[in-house]
Amino acid sequence: MPELPEVETIRAGLDVHLPGRAIVRAQVLHPRPVRSFSGTPVQFETTLAGRVFASPQRRGKYLWLPFEDGDALVAHLGMSGQFRIDTPDAELPRHARVVFSLDDDRQLRFIDQRMFGGLELASGGAVLPASVSHIVPDMFDSEFDEARTVERIRGSQSAIKRLLLNQRVVSGIGNIYADEALWQAGVHPETPANSLNVGQVKAVLDAAKNVMTTAIASGGTSFDALYVNINGDSGYFALQLNAYSRAGLPCSRCGTTMQRTPFMGRSSVFCPTCQRLQSAANS
Ligand SMILES: [Zn+2]
Repeated sequence: MPELPEVETIRAGLDVHLPGRAIVRAQVLHPRPVRSFSGTPVQFETTLAGRVFASPQRRGKYLWLPFEDGDALVAHLGMSGQFRIDTPDAELPRHARVVFSLDDDRQLRFIDQRMFGGLELASGGAVLPASVSHIVPDMFDSEFDEARTVERIRGSQSAIKRLLLNQRVVSGIGNIYADEALWQAGVHPETPANSLNVGQVKAVLDAAKNVMTTAIASGGTSFDALYVNINGDSGYFALQLNAYSRAGLPCSRCGTTMQRTPFMGRSSVFCPTCQRLQSAANS
């Protein structure tokens, strides 16, 4: 599942190509990715034709492609959704699902092998689609309020990691970056948030932002061969992660064997020495 840095990499790539480009023709090659559209796939093609793209937008892990008319196409990438921009004579990938022919003789192709994702037309959604409005601004958003987020987290008895993954509390952080941020800040994933002090919560949030900033700079972190950026390049392993995928290996800070525990249907990887579980409330 792409996290904020991967989605931002896709958004930035599309932002180079799409603004000002008109859709000459839309082709739905498989109906499933447009299943949330109220009409038929043919009606989807008809209503998209002629629209002009504005600058692609992102909040947290959510990506949408606004049109100059005020509507937007929300892209749910799911497990395997991706965009490619290609010339019409470039071989169409096997899992291409929707193809938009643009007025510069290129194509925007939505490719999705497993089809958990899809494209949704959001009427009037150019600024903020209704399906994204429950997501709080992420840490890269000018509207992000760190002090308020810290207080909100400290007001909960939930595990800190559960709050980091809650898109209504702080958006864009997924399992990989949550584990990394907690490792960097030396906080156990299951620590009740109300037992952390302001400095600890700030340290976790700052670490999450730092690691995501590095990931964006290196083009996103790919752990899934299905994830590629818009030009089809795959595999950004430049990012050195200290927690994710390191269970059973020595902690790169203290040498203790990193542990994996089940968490919310997935798992957490942490260092039992650097990240001791604290339960008593701090002052
Ligand atoms: Zn350690």
